[in-house]
Amino acid sequence: MKKIFNYINGEFKAPIEDQWIDNYNPSIGDVYSLLPNSSTVDVQNAYEAAEKAFPEWSETPLEQRSKVLSKIASLITENLDQLAKAEAIDNGKPLSLSTSIDIPRASSNFQFFAHALTQFASEAHESTGFNAINFTLRQPIGVVGCISPWNLPLYLFTWKIAPALAAGNTVVAKPSEITPMTAYLLAEICIKAGVPKGVLNIVHGLGNTTGQAIIEHPKIKAISFTGGTATGAHIAKTAAPMFKKLSLELGGKNPNLIFADCDYEKMLSTTLRSSFANQGQICLCGSRIYVERAIYDKFKTDFIAKTNALKIGAPLDAETNIGALVSKSHLEKVKSYIDIATAEGGTILCGGNYVTVKGYENGYYLQPTIIEINNTNCRVAQEEIFGPVVTITPFDSDDEALAMANDVRYGLSCTIWTNNLNRSMYMAKHVQAGIVWVNTWMMRDLRTAFGGTKDSGVGREGGFEALRFFTEPKNICIQY
Ligand code: NDP
Repeated sequence: MKKIFNYINGEFKAPIEDQWIDNYNPSIGDVYSLLPNSSTVDVQNAYEAAEKAFPEWSETPLEQRSKVLSKIASLITENLDQLAKAEAIDNGKPLSLSTSIDIPRASSNFQFFAHALTQFASEAHESTGFNAINFTLRQPIGVVGCISPWNLPLYLFTWKIAPALAAGNTVVAKPSEITPMTAYLLAEICIKAGVPKGVLNIVHGLGNTTGQAIIEHPKIKAISFTGGTATGAHIAKTAAPMFKKLSLELGGKNPNLIFADCDYEKMLSTTLRSSFANQGQICLCGSRIYVERAIYDKFKTDFIAKTNALKIGAPLDAETNIGALVSKSHLEKVKSYIDIATAEGGTILCGGNYVTVKGYENGYYLQPTIIEINNTNCRVAQEEIFGPVVTITPFDSDDEALAMANDVRYGLSCTIWTNNLNRSMYMAKHVQAGIVWVNTWMMRDLRTAFGGTKDSGVGREGGFEALRFFTEPKNICIQY
């Protein structure tokens, strides 16, 4: 059985206690590799390697640091096919998606921050009348921890690691135990790219042991975390008394507001993607769809037809639109929400059942599902399902749409479909979300601030926001 190893101090290492975890291929429902069940000793070793590497890496000239990151970006691109296939097998997502989105974006993350670090500037203030000048040094923090989820494995792992390294920190990182493969392959790439020993350390293992050892390590001074809201709350509680810097990108339950005056065809095809891309396992998916009553019936008919036409199949099949869900327990959790919806009075308009794919009978497949609800105070409209399940509900006025959009504990993103500029501005300004898309979805410019409000997180990633997070500002005042 293939084994995945930790990457510590520039070398592959087995876990000290020789404990291993089964890694499942969700398309067949079977174990296909083993990953380290790392202990606190492995995390400590990773920390010590990172600590030793910090003085030199933090003083490495920017151009040289930039070259190392660019090299990683190029090697990811050169190995696109291998990485995309590995991601599809490990996560269950269609190969077409990992080839067109996940892996290219992982490369872009490194390329972007390779450039950004050479452009990152800080402020200076002349204290007029006092013959003094203030300027701000932006110094790397030291050893930082990066913890990422399973839905966009390499994409989100690199989204944290790249800015952390760009800012001059050294890193102890843990990918999700459910999808460790591409993080392991990234370590191979780092060795080829000549990343100095100890600058990046990847420790595999369970969240509540390996992850826990990272967040409670007294000398890891900042934690960048993407994952569920409950885990985020636990991390905040653990890290706050140690005064660690925290960036938390958490769950979402995002509204998709569709007005009758929108560009209908573009809205319909994009809504299909924003509902079911990656089996609905994207924190930005628009899982609550609100449609102006004038076009509600038409939308319902067209959306059901398009959803029923999606091909559910094995991730490596080129025809597949909907692959496998990431794990058996997640599949069952998502399915349980469909049963809850029925019990709460929702109407299943399409989907709702497990799927058996020929040749992949034990894989974790579920039909994309649309649930019509009128009372938005129910669990399927309030809780994050994180699967191919959306609700649809009509509305009669802008204010009603806005009130429903804001009536959840989450505030990550929102999509608004209208050609009325006044309406789009009013809605965008008043909706409670960190990210708003008007007449598009998931269009990303890596310079923009990324993150959520309310229970969707604290802090922002992206562009200079990420470089600010991964540095400590120090003001220096000189009187002359
Ligand atoms: P989890 O919160 O379960 O896990 C995220 C990561 O944290 C994993 O690596 C996990 O390890 C680790 N972890 C778990 N417990 C601890 C702990 N006590 N200490 C340290 N680390 C820990 O989330 P999922 O992996 O299930 O990801 C899905 C969630 O991520 C969804 O809620 C989704 O909305 C959110 N998400 C948010 C995004 C955003 O940008 N806002 C983007 C993408 C996803 P392990 O896997 O071993 O448990």
